[in-house]
Amino acid sequence: MSASVVVVGAGYAGVMAANRIRSRSEDTRVIVVNPRPAFVERIRLHQLVTGSSDATIPFERVLHPGLELRVGTVERIDAKDNTIALSDGELLRYDHLVYAVGSTDRRDHIPGASEHAFSVSELEQAHLLRLRLRALPRPLAVTVIGGGLTGIETAAELAENDPEIAVTLVSDTPVAQTLPPRTRRKILTTLAALGVTVTEGDRVAEIAEGKVTLADGRILQSDCTVLATSFAFPDLARRSGLEVDAEGRLLVDATLTSLGAPSIVGAGDAVAGPPDELGHLRMSCQAALPMGAHAADTVLARLGGTEPTPLSLGFVGQCISLGRRRGAFQPTRADDSPAWPAITGRVGALVKEQVCATTVQFMTKQATRGAYRWRRGPR
Ligand SMILES: Cc1cc2nc3c(=O)[nH]c(=O)nc-3n(C[C@H](O)[C@H](O)[C@H](O)COP(=O)(O)OP(=O)(O)OC[C@H]3O[C@@H](n4cnc5c(N)ncnc54)[C@H](O)[C@@H]3O)c2cc1C
Repeated sequence: MSASVVVVGAGYAGVMAANRIRSRSEDTRVIVVNPRPAFVERIRLHQLVTGSSDATIPFERVLHPGLELRVGTVERIDAKDNTIALSDGELLRYDHLVYAVGSTDRRDHIPGASEHAFSVSELEQAHLLRLRLRALPRPLAVTVIGGGLTGIETAAELAENDPEIAVTLVSDTPVAQTLPPRTRRKILTTLAALGVTVTEGDRVAEIAEGKVTLADGRILQSDCTVLATSFAFPDLARRSGLEVDAEGRLLVDATLTSLGAPSIVGAGDAVAGPPDELGHLRMSCQAALPMGAHAADTVLARLGGTEPTPLSLGFVGQCISLGRRRGAFQPTRADDSPAWPAITGRVGALVKEQVCATTVQFMTKQATRGAYRWRRGPR
């Protein structure tokens, strides 16, 4: 009887893993379980808010035709019985399982965030934000909280798209702090040119209807507040009794195999590897794709009776869109530290758009041909 592999989560990591397994092992039955009936291009969700992309692609265009798709949510993984339970009551058996459930936004760290903040972290949240912004009368004050790449991209997108939106970007750290000073200056100059007010070193103490209160007591009027701070993780692994870190990410070894559950491998945002081997991995689609491919290789090795190898993964760059007409591409070393000067301005925007497009090609055309390769890691 042919082996069966269940892939839980059809984001970047899950689609890559499923396509690669199916294309390299035609006898293997591969079932993909995902709550939404279409692939979500999370890296374009800030574009969905302004309408320059709908950030979804039909699964027929993304998944290998030999795969089976179940639209549903996995409620529990039983690693002893090798079964999963879906929320509609269906039970599926697996020989190998790929855990690739991604991440979501975190709301427990700022009072009022759950009730009053919007986000671009997930499809439904981005749609809600789009509807809210369309409904509010102009002129309008929007506060984006978080000076990382998602916050910057969201602030720039909103400001460029509608000059009647006054965008304030609030960050408790320097904006784009992972980038070198020259790239940061360029980003700050572009944000200023788009009309975004940036406040650095300000912690948000509370979000309420119509306002944001900073830790020093200042109040910002905010008709709409967007959270772009840290990510949280689905608690599927934790509630299934698998080994997880303090944040609920599945703990894996360097082959991406779950600690304590050898028939489960993990990939993407939802897993944490050994710090000395995989500690440099930033949560990103850039890491999720090769992790998905390597998770597939680990499963394929076990199916073929060979020993899986440790993942070696290096970064290439950091890409930031600053609206539709400007952007920045910061080349990095394999360990994600900045290498050469960034490409910025219009060319930076073209590079970013090209990266978004090739990301989909990597996990579809290249993965289904089994041809996908990636940069090796720093060690
Ligand atoms: C606005 C925005 C812009 C970004 N820009 C970039 C960028 O430019 N470059 C970059 O590298 N990264 C970027 N990122 C980060 C990137 O999107 C994530 O790191 C990436 O999506 C992680 O891929 P993943 O496959 O692990 O998870 P995801 O893409 O989140 O996919 C996880 C999938 O699992 C499904 N799932 C969850 N729970 C279950 C369950 N119980 N049962 C079944 N399925 C489940 C989810 O619905 C989802 O489909 C951006 C993120 C955002 C929000």
